[in-house]
Amino acid sequence: PYEGPRAEEILQKRAEFLSPSLFHFYDRPLNIVDGKMQYLFDEDGRRYLDAFGGIATVSCGHCHPDIVEAIVNQAKRIQHSTVLYLNNAISDFAEALAAKMPGDLKVVFFTNSGTEANELALMIARLYTGCHDIISVRNGYHGNAAGTMGATAQSIWKFNVVQTGVHHASNPDPYRGAFGSDGEKYARDVEEIIDFGTTGRVGGFISEAIQGVGGIVELAPGYLPAVYNTVRKAGGLCIADEVQVGVARTGSHFWGFEAHGVIPDIVTMAKGIGNGIPIGAVVTTPEIAQVLTRRSYFNTFGGNPVSTAGGHAVLKVLEKEKLQENAFVVGSYLKERLDMLKEKHEIIGDVRGRGFLLGVELVTDRQKKTPAKAEIAQVMNNMKDMGVLVGKGGFYGNVFRVTPPLCFSKDDSDFLIDVMDIALSKL
Ligand code: PMP
Repeated sequence: PYEGPRAEEILQKRAEFLSPSLFHFYDRPLNIVDGKMQYLFDEDGRRYLDAFGGIATVSCGHCHPDIVEAIVNQAKRIQHSTVLYLNNAISDFAEALAAKMPGDLKVVFFTNSGTEANELALMIARLYTGCHDIISVRNGYHGNAAGTMGATAQSIWKFNVVQTGVHHASNPDPYRGAFGSDGEKYARDVEEIIDFGTTGRVGGFISEAIQGVGGIVELAPGYLPAVYNTVRKAGGLCIADEVQVGVARTGSHFWGFEAHGVIPDIVTMAKGIGNGIPIGAVVTTPEIAQVLTRRSYFNTFGGNPVSTAGGHAVLKVLEKEKLQENAFVVGSYLKERLDMLKEKHEIIGDVRGRGFLLGVELVTDRQKKTPAKAEIAQVMNNMKDMGVLVGKGGFYGNVFRVTPPLCFSKDDSDFLIDVMDIALSKL
């Protein structure tokens, strides 16, 4: 049993000694002290079904024994900076990651986070093309350092940073967007940005395949292939931000971009690739990777031996336990059941996503699509009290994000649905 400090004491310390900008989802935040696969346990030993997986960071399950063992064994052997010496953990993971990539994408730069990966990707695109202009998609999230905050396109995450050379294109959002599911119409906005907002040449384009923070928004079909074409004609590189969508989560494919039939020039990842361990990566082609030899480049801990031993173990567990297949089968079942809930509850305006990256948008008026902000908070708190944790997101904060560890079962899905059904009925 847990005998450490209680939630109230931690909350008090947090208020006094930690960043005042930290937020939490619940009226009374949980003190989570243990985790096992898809379950979390609070200070009283109360079990919660985790359908948010620490913002999709937990791919294989909390404290997965194989991954813990790989991390502990490496930490006992040697842990140090990534640079200076050779270490097989780093090169073995890079090789394994490259094997998961299509085309000529096989050179890996490791980082500590998604933000760092995207910062590096944007810099590589600018160096390779000699162009500063970058296009990102409205409602996207790419990180919280100066460059990535510029590419991020939601005012709620943007501080007063100097945002040079970033253009934000119309969001190809099938639910709220002006052109519905016609991806090619939205893609014309990227053409116009290039024609009227740049010299006609651009450094690159960055996008998620499904917007995570933005509220699980699937890009309208046909959008990515059309935009990749346009951007490449203007000399730019195409960057896929797979930080949230990647690593088997969508079930049908290992990477989110694969569902759109495109091959990016640069792929970035983090979160699920480490199952909770801080690690990110940029993968690109040998030719593009050459740009970083123009100066000295290093990242002290990016891809350190402990993180890469963990990341490599993640890839092995995904394979061994057929977790991508599970995300496809169980995720599709869960989505069907969410669709059935939509028929029952008027407040559900939209159900979307793939595999274990699912979104449920709550609206008080289906015609006007008025965000049900107060209602979602109430349902979330009620679900927590019944032992189920889901996330929320979207610009209006009215979208449930269902992104469980990939070991989530059919029984877990049924339990989640029952609990959500009861909580919605209580409104
Ligand atoms: N890209 C996407 C798509 C993300 O969801 C996030 C994190 N929410 C990031 C980048 C930034 O990752 P990190 O928080 O690890 O810096």
